[in-house]
Formats: sequence, C-alpha cells, structure tokens
Amino acid sequence: MLKLLGVAGWPVGHSRSPAMHSAALAELGLDWRYLKLPVAPDRFAEVVAALPEAGYVGLNVTVPHKEAALLLADRATATATAVGAANTLTFTDTGIEAENTDAPGLIAALSRPVEGRSALVLGAGGAGRAAAWALREAGAQVSVWNRTHERARDLAASLGVGLASHPTDADLLVNTTAVGLGGETSERETLEALDLGGVKPPEVLVDLVYGDRPTALVRWGRDNGAEVVDGLEVLVRQGALSLERWTGRPAPVEVMRRAARR
Ligand code: NAP
Repeated sequence: MLKLLGVAGWPVGHSRSPAMHSAALAELGLDWRYLKLPVAPDRFAEVVAALPEAGYVGLNVTVPHKEAALLLADRATATATAVGAANTLTFTDTGIEAENTDAPGLIAALSRPVEGRSALVLGAGGAGRAAAWALREAGAQVSVWNRTHERARDLAASLGVGLASHPTDADLLVNTTAVGLGGETSERETLEALDLGGVKPPEVLVDLVYGDRPTALVRWGRDNGAEVVDGLEVLVRQGALSLERWTGRPAPVEVMRRAARR
C-alpha cells in the first residue's frame, strides 16, 4: 500500500509542510505522499484512529490539536510529555507514538549554543511552553513574558523558569505569540503589542511567526544588528526531525528549506 504522511490542523490551508515534505520525499527517492488534512477538533480522535488503515505511517499535528494528539497516543517521548503537547505522531504495529519536534527544532535552528545565556520567551501558549522548555533544557536562563500575565505565571511555575512582568533585555529573544501573523502588523504596533518599547535588540532574535514576507519583528531585529532566525527556519527544523523519525533517514534539510521558502 502507498505510504502516506500528512499534517492535521484546523485550519491547515496555509501550511507549508506538504510542499516541504513532498520535496524531501522526492529527494530521498521515497514514493510516499504527504497530504493536508483539515480536521475539526471534535473529529480529531476519530480521524486519527482511521489513518493507519488508510496507509498513514505518520502525522504532523498543528493548531489546535497538539494537546489532543498527546492524549490519544499509546506512548509518548519524554519531550512530548514534558512539553504537554505533540506535533508528530508515528503509527506503528504496536500503537501510536507521540513526539514533540517543535522543542528540539527550535534549538536546531539556532546557530550558537545558548548555555548560560539569558533568554526571554514572549508568549505563554503551546509554542511558548515548548520554547521555554527547550531553552531551559539547553541550559539557558529562561524568563517568560505574556500579555495575559497569569498564563506566564502558570507556565513559569510549572517549568521552574523566570517570570517577567515586562520584557527586559536578554541575549536571546523568542517571539512565540501570534503577533505578526497575517503580515499586517506594523513595526510600531508589533513593538507595542509585545511591550518591547524599552528593550534593547537582542544578540539573537527568533520569531516563530512566518508568512510571505519577513515580519515586522524580524525587520526590527535585522535593522538593529540582531542575528535573526525566522519562523520558516524553525518550521524546517521541526519538520526535518519529524521526517527522520518516520523514515529513519537523514532529512535533506536544504531541500526542505528551499521548498518551504518557495
Ligand atoms: P496559542 O497557544 O494560541 O498562544 C497564542 C499566544 O499569542 C499567547 O501567548 C497569546 O497571549 C499571544 N497573543 C495572541 N495575540 C496577541 C496580541 N495581539 N498581543 C500579544 N499577545 C498575543 O498559539 P501557539 O500554538 O502557542 O502558537 C503561537 C504562534 O507561534 C502562532 O503564530 C504559530 O503559527 C507560531 N508557531 C510557529 C511554529 C513554527 O514552526 N514556526 C511552531 C509552532 C507555533 P494571551 O495568553 O494573552 O492570549
């Protein structure tokens, strides 16, 4: 039977994962297919249960299904369990395995070690939790800021990282909020929404948000001398780790990068 992979989300129309993974499968000489699966939240468990029989060997999971994906799996890696969410499911003969490649994907996207460096994570949603956990594991001194302070407080307490009432200077600044999504936000609006008015540009800026053009935050970082890692690079790195898990082969990262940016 033809082997299938896919990405399940709601919505999922904007996803670049099919282009990126299809290019990688072709490069690896694997005649598999990677498909987009729009799945409403109330159908998620039912749809996933039916996938292995249809030929699926793996699934990427995006908003809003990442917590549900972890819950329905038969087994989970230590990373997925610690992050509390899974973006990668693997269908095996002995059940569904859950993994989270968002967290190691973020670290893989960085060109320098973060051990001992200060890192401020903006946002306390699912991506914020994965980023704070990954950076803490990599040895950074992590603090979290969020528009809704209570969520940052809960995240900081559960991961044992610092809590910022206002963003402060840090070596590494990671935007995990949705600010900038859609590409319409100006630099002034972005800095205001993220309360970055009085903050020095960091050495390294990561913006998980991506679109057709660089976000206003990415432009601010570049204009002010920061080394910038954009959301597409993080997408590529998490995707590469998922693909390696499914195929057991090294991922063609450069091919995936070119396809994601096309
Ligand atoms: P989520 O759980 O819904 O969290 C959304 C976060 O954004 C919350 O911290 C929320 O703050 C904040 N936020 C939303 N609108 C805001 C505004 N106008 N001003 C300030 N803060 C605002 O979403 P998520 O799953 O963490 O994803 C967050 C972003 O990361 C999305 O844009 C997603 O596309 C991106 N992402 C990218 C990758 C990648 O591979 N590049 C991977 C994962 C996620 P409140 O708590 O105050 O609402």
